[in-house]
Amino acid sequence: EAKPSRKRGLKVEPNSTVKLTHPDRIYWPDAGVTKQGLADYYAEIWPHIAPFITHRPLSLLRCPSGITGEQFFQKNAWKGLNEAIVLVDDPSTDAVEQLISIENLDGLIALVQSAVLEIHPWGSTIDAWEKPDMIIMDLDPGEGVDWQTVIDAAQEVRQRLEDAGLAAFVKTSGGKGLHVVSPLTPKAEWPEIKAFTKGLADAMASDSPDHYVATISKAKRPGKILIDYLRNQRGQTAVAPYSTRARAGAPVSAPLAWDELSPGVGPNYFTVLNLPTRLASLGVDPWADFRKAAKPLEFGAAAGKKGK
Ligand code: ATP
Ligand code: MN
Ligand code: MN
Repeated sequence: EAKPSRKRGLKVEPNSTVKLTHPDRIYWPDAGVTKQGLADYYAEIWPHIAPFITHRPLSLLRCPSGITGEQFFQKNAWKGLNEAIVLVDDPSTDAVEQLISIENLDGLIALVQSAVLEIHPWGSTIDAWEKPDMIIMDLDPGEGVDWQTVIDAAQEVRQRLEDAGLAAFVKTSGGKGLHVVSPLTPKAEWPEIKAFTKGLADAMASDSPDHYVATISKAKRPGKILIDYLRNQRGQTAVAPYSTRARAGAPVSAPLAWDELSPGVGPNYFTVLNLPTRLASLGVDPWADFRKAAKPLEFGAAAGKKGK
């Protein structure tokens, strides 16, 4: 009989029945986070991460010896796959192998058992493979860009999305940048979404060429932010909200309220160690209304329109 965790007062689903082997194996040596610690983190924040990682194809970063060892991305079945992990058929005619997805907390804990330290979902669900239910604008600061400039870029992306009739939410990447995410009613298909996000990135780069670039080839330019719209293509992924990162300090990609963006809250400020406490003390997830705020991308939405 599963019993709900009372830890720090968060409402959580019943605990997983998936057994962990070697629960004391250290995944993040510097932060002292073990396999069991990772499972506890996910069990605790399960209701918050669930809508973003269930019922979608996943690309998984596996690190069998933790963050200091070998790392590899995996999106197809491997030997000894736990039965809580669900294989799905990509309906695309050129798909060859089945893809991986999960439906419940057991699936997530099975990923932990398989040393998955980063979860990167598609932006569409397996109910509507061709119709994304979110846009992800990935802001990648080059060498020497200060954090306030990244915040300003996120605010500009937000303004442009809102001008196009869409809602905008922000999260840290857990790495170096910010992700601005817009919930969509699944309607437009991938090519249209990609064209819209390219238009948005190109408009920012042409309006502020000193601050932004929209193409990877120019991304190495120091002092500029790459407005990476290329997450918004069929088969591409971005790290999930609340997913951990296989980087020093056990950072997580942390959903924020817009007014929380500040120079004091850097891209890897929130971690496995402080995120559950943060959620409990906030009382409400800053992205609680994410799905409710979804809008369809209307044909011809003016991505290029200047914000202010
Ligand atoms: P940062 O803030 O440090 O840029 P990030 O997660 O945004 O962190 P990016 O390098 O910008 O990292 O990549 C964006 C996303 O693209 C990743 O989260 C991942 O989903 C996907 N991605 C990047 N490189 C790979 C790869 N080699 N294999 C699979 N997916 C990748
Ligand atoms: Mn990025
Ligand atoms: Mn990127």
